[in-house]
Amino acid sequence: MAIHKKDFDKKMEEVKKKLKESVVVPEKLKRTDKLCFKCYPGITCFNACCSGIRINLTPYDIFRLKNRLKMSYHDFLMQYTVPRSIDGTPLPITVIKMRDDDIKSCPFNTPEGCTVYSDRPVTCRYYPIGMAIMKHYEHPTGEDFFIKIKEDHCLGHNEPFEWTIDEWRADQEADLYDEMNKDWMEVVLKAKSLGIVEFSQKSLDLFFMVSSNLDLFRDFVFNSNFLNAYELEPELVNRIKEDELELLKFSLRWLRFTMFGEGNFTIKDEAQKKARDRMKAATQAKIETKKARDEELLSKTPEEIMKEADGGK
Ligand code: SF4
Ligand code: SF4
Repeated sequence: MAIHKKDFDKKMEEVKKKLKESVVVPEKLKRTDKLCFKCYPGITCFNACCSGIRINLTPYDIFRLKNRLKMSYHDFLMQYTVPRSIDGTPLPITVIKMRDDDIKSCPFNTPEGCTVYSDRPVTCRYYPIGMAIMKHYEHPTGEDFFIKIKEDHCLGHNEPFEWTIDEWRADQEADLYDEMNKDWMEVVLKAKSLGIVEFSQKSLDLFFMVSSNLDLFRDFVFNSNFLNAYELEPELVNRIKEDELELLKFSLRWLRFTMFGEGNFTIKDEAQKKARDRMKAATQAKIETKKARDEELLSKTPEEIMKEADGGK
C-alpha cells in the first residue's frame, strides 16, 4: 500500500511530538538541587524502565553482580554481557545483554521486580538521574552536574516526595559505587575530554581486562613479571592476594597510572632499564626495517616499483 506524503508527514510529526514528550528536558542539576520522585513496587509503571535500554557496567557493578550470582568473571561475562565501546571513546566496555524478546528486557527483570536489586548496576541506581557526571579532566575542581531524565512512562516523577540529588545518591548507594569506581571514571573522563586519542591496542586490552575481568588481572599480577616491575609494599601484595575488593581498588589505581601516568606507583630501576632497552631495540628494529625497505626500493627500476604498487599486474 502506497503511503501519501501528507500521511507520512503527519506520522513524522506525531513521532517527533512523542519523542519531545518522552524526554521532556535534560535538566541540569547540582548536588544540592531538589528532585521530586519516588519509585516503589506498587507503582503502575513498575519495571517499565527495565527494557530496551543500554546498561554499561562499571568494574564495581561487575564485581557485585558476579558475586551475587556466585559466578566466575568469565562465566558472568559470557552469559550476561556483550562488549561495546564507551560513547565518544575507543575504550571497550561490557554492557548487559538484553533478552531476545519483543521488548528487549533486562535478563534480571521479572514481574516481581529486579532479581539482583541490592546489587543492581549504578546506572539503575541513578535513574532517573543521568549518570553523565561531567567533570572536565583538566578542571578537577570544576562543578559536577547531573541530568534529570524525565520519560513519559515513568510515573515516579508525579509522586510527592522530594530529595536533593545527594540524598538520592546516598539512598540508592550510588555514592558508594562512585567511590569504588572513581579511578576508573577518571580514566574514562580523561579519554572523553581528550577527544579522538589513539590508544595502542595494548592499552585498550589492558583497559578492557581491568574494567571487566578481575580474575584475568589477578593472573596478570601474580603470574607475570608484574611484581618484579613495581615497588610494592609486601603488606599491600598480601592484601590484594587475599581480598578481592582490595585487588579491584588496586587494579583501578594501576589502570590510571598505566594509561595516564597518574598516581603513586614506582617502577623498579631494573624494570625501567629493561623497558628502555626494549624501546631502544624496537626503535632500532623499525629504523633497520625502513633502511632495508629504502635500499630495496633504490635497487629497483621505476617500472618495477609501479608494477609492484599495481599488485604485480
Ligand atoms: S538490573 Fe535490575 S534494575 Fe537494572 S535494568 Fe535490570 S532488572 Fe532493572
Ligand atoms: S517509577 Fe520510573 S523508575 Fe520506578 S518503576 Fe516506574 S518507570 Fe521505573
